[in-house]
Amino acid sequence: MNHYFHGAFQQAIRTGPIIFMHWFWDEKMNPIDFVSPNVEPIFGYSVEELINGTTRLIDIFIEEHQAIFISNLKRHIEQEDSFWYESYEIYSKDKQVRYIRTYSYIQEEDILSNLRSVYTYVIDETALIKQLNEKELLATRYQVAIENAEEGVWEWDPGQNRMFYSDDWKRMLGYEPKEIANTFDEWERLMHVEDLQKARAILEQYSAGEIEKYESEFRMLHKNGTYRWILSRGKIIFIQDYQLKKVMIGTHVDITEQKNTAALLLKRNEELEILLKQIKELSITDPLTSLFNRRKILEELEEAQQAQNINNNSYSIAIIDLDFFKRVNDTYGHSVGDETLKLFAAFIQQNVRGQDIVGRWGGEEFFIIFPETTDVQALDILQRLQKNFAKKPLLIKKYSIMITFSAGISNSAVDTTVDVMIKQADQALYKAKELGRDLIVKFEEEQS
Ligand code: GH3
Ligand code: MG
Ligand code: MG
Repeated sequence: MNHYFHGAFQQAIRTGPIIFMHWFWDEKMNPIDFVSPNVEPIFGYSVEELINGTTRLIDIFIEEHQAIFISNLKRHIEQEDSFWYESYEIYSKDKQVRYIRTYSYIQEEDILSNLRSVYTYVIDETALIKQLNEKELLATRYQVAIENAEEGVWEWDPGQNRMFYSDDWKRMLGYEPKEIANTFDEWERLMHVEDLQKARAILEQYSAGEIEKYESEFRMLHKNGTYRWILSRGKIIFIQDYQLKKVMIGTHVDITEQKNTAALLLKRNEELEILLKQIKELSITDPLTSLFNRRKILEELEEAQQAQNINNNSYSIAIIDLDFFKRVNDTYGHSVGDETLKLFAAFIQQNVRGQDIVGRWGGEEFFIIFPETTDVQALDILQRLQKNFAKKPLLIKKYSIMITFSAGISNSAVDTTVDVMIKQADQALYKAKELGRDLIVKFEEEQS
């Protein structure tokens, strides 16, 4: 034998990964004649214990595999196989289970020993098997997770222009697996035309690296003719498949229900918003006349007073009271009285300036705020109003009703309060009544 080869062989059987054995087949003992010394670093057994039979070959196998090993061996001999390979689980010296692959070669008969002589090469595949098992387990886990999540899976290979859709992907849209071809076109064929452009744009942006995440929502046509909302998510990954290639893997989830709920919520919110606006309006309006109510007038008064305090914008107010209104009710009835109040409310609203704020103060009393207006100007406005009102009687039902009103005016000053303003206007109104009604009186300091 070549000297160099001999050296390399010696090296391999001491430290290499393949164990060489020569042993005899005798059904009970299977004595080992030769085993390479690397058996010790790989499995922990010493060459001596294996050769002198302290550790029997059969005892190295895990219990379930001992009988299998024997029956396999018998079969190979019966079938006159000369070479075969098998996988077993064995124990290492420290009782750890190891996965091995064996390549065995049998010689007809050993002339010297009169026994069948077997050559076996053993490779420890424990690390490899564990890795494969983990991958398999992971794949199974993903499979289970995906099936239960009711997600469809797709895989797109842009290089090969190949598309894969999982069965669930197709079933999500009501199709049997064979009814949809594995092409990219199928996806776009089933997509709602209105969503197509946006969906393409997102995919392109993601492919170009312009956006970090691929997440896209669009409608797809179900076999039953309805559209389903689909959430598509995916990721570009590189996989090793003969050569390294770039593919995009993703999922589809049917989010129609969520979309419907969201749309419903939006509608409810809009309805609530409208309702809220209505409630707000109700809270500041008088139901009979649709003018601002007393509460709103008080709010507006506070604001006017603040504007006075800050900017020295003096304002005026008027409290208006219908004269002898009780008689209207008594003569024509309460409903005619109500009608009268409505018509009068509309009349003042129409005959003041845009910036003036009109409200129903209560009963047959009304209130006007004249922003940035002196009491002389307010008096002028009210007198014009009085004149206009006196011109024509109110026509209600079959009646023609003539009424008059009285009013008290007061003008603001820095640091008056709203309460003082109201009191002064009230005093002026009282004066108007006292002086015979159908009168407008402005409050004068000397009156108080
Ligand atoms: P005066 O000139 O002194 O103000 O006389 P008046 O009759 O107007 O005064 P009084 O305060 O005695 O009566 C007010 C009347 O206004 C009493 C009430 O029946 C009537 N009134 C108050 N609110 C309403 C209402 O909402 N509808 C109707 N129809 N009448 C109302
Ligand atoms: Mg009154
Ligand atoms: Mg009155």
